[in-house]
Amino acid sequence: MTAYEALRANPEFAALRTVSTRLGLDPLQVQGPGGNTSIKSGGIMWVKASGTWLADAEAQDIFVPVDYNGLTQAIVANDESADDVGPFTHASENPSGLRASIEATVHASSPAKVVLHTHCVATIAAAIRKDAPAFLAEKLAGLSFAFIPYTKPGSGLARAIRAHAPAGTEILVLGNHGLVVCGETVAEADSLLREVSARLTPTTKADPADASPALKDRLSGTGWMPVPHRPTQRIALDERLLKVADGRTLYPDHLVFLGPGVTIAMPSETVSQAVARAAQSLFPSKLVIVPGHGVAMPETASRSELALASAFGDVLARVDPNASVTRLSRDQEAELLDWDAETYRKSLNKEQSTQRHVT
Ligand SMILES: [Zn+2]
Repeated sequence: MTAYEALRANPEFAALRTVSTRLGLDPLQVQGPGGNTSIKSGGIMWVKASGTWLADAEAQDIFVPVDYNGLTQAIVANDESADDVGPFTHASENPSGLRASIEATVHASSPAKVVLHTHCVATIAAAIRKDAPAFLAEKLAGLSFAFIPYTKPGSGLARAIRAHAPAGTEILVLGNHGLVVCGETVAEADSLLREVSARLTPTTKADPADASPALKDRLSGTGWMPVPHRPTQRIALDERLLKVADGRTLYPDHLVFLGPGVTIAMPSETVSQAVARAAQSLFPSKLVIVPGHGVAMPETASRSELALASAFGDVLARVDPNASVTRLSRDQEAELLDWDAETYRKSLNKEQSTQRHVT
C-alpha cells in the first residue's frame, strides 16, 4: 500500500476533506486560495498545495506529502531552505505533483495531528488591533492560545511561533494575518475553530450598504465597477470605517490580490481620475474608495480579487472603530511581494507629494 493509499483509508482524512471544503466555501473563513489544512499520518504531513482552493478539497487531490521532521529541523536550524518546502516534499508519494503551501512551515510547527489555518475575518479584525494581546486574553479566556506578532509567512513565521507559543498551544492568532487551530482529531480542531470564531465575532457589526447610483454612472466607461458586496460599500459611507481603511495594508492577502492598502478619491478628483491614478501607480491598487458614494474595483477582477474585496468589507464590519490598528510597514509590504523596498518607498513618497500638490 502506498502512503497515499494508506492516507485515503484513514477516516480522519475523509473528515479533513469535508471540513476543508466547508471552510473553503465560507467567505468568513477563507477567501480565494487562502487558508490551508493538514493532517499528520504515518510519519508524513499532508498539507494543502500552493494555489489550490480549500473548497476543492473533496473534489480534487489538493494535499501534498511533506517530511515535517526534516522541515522542522531546517526551521530550527535557521536554514533558509525551509522557505522552499519543495526539498521536503516526498516526490515519489506525491500523486498530484503539486507544490506544498509555503504555510506548511506553520503546520509543521505544531506536533498536533490536525492543523487548520484560515483567514477568519473576525480573527483578522482582532489580530490587527494594537491591543490584540490584551483583547484576546479577555475574549479567549480559558483557552490554550498564543498571539504571534506579524511575521512574513514562511520559516520566519514558524520560528516566531516557536518563540511565542509554548509547545502544545492549541490556538495561534497570527497578528495581521489569521487563525491557526491544532487538534488530535479533525472534530477537535474544527470545534476549536468554531469556538474562537464565535468568541471573536462582535455582537454588533457595521450595517451593509449600497453604493450610490451616481457612482455607477460616474464609473461608466472607465472599466471599473462598484464592488458587488454591500459590507464593502459601507466603508465609503461611514467616516469611522473610512479611517480604518485609509492607510497601508492590514493583512497579506489584501496586498497580494488588491495591491497596497486602498486608494481614496480626493475631493479635487473626478471618479475617473481617481481610478486612473490607482491603476497607473507603479504599485497599483485595485480598490478605490469614493467617500460618500461607494467602493470600486476593476471590471476584470478575478474570482480571488472579488473574494478579497468582499473580505475587506467583512473584516472592517467587525473592527471596533474605536480601537487603534496595526498596519504592515512599507518594508513588510515590500518583502511580501519581493518588491525592491527602496523603489517602493520612493514611489510612495513621490505619490504622496503629488497628492499634496493636487489638494
Ligand atoms: Zn495565511
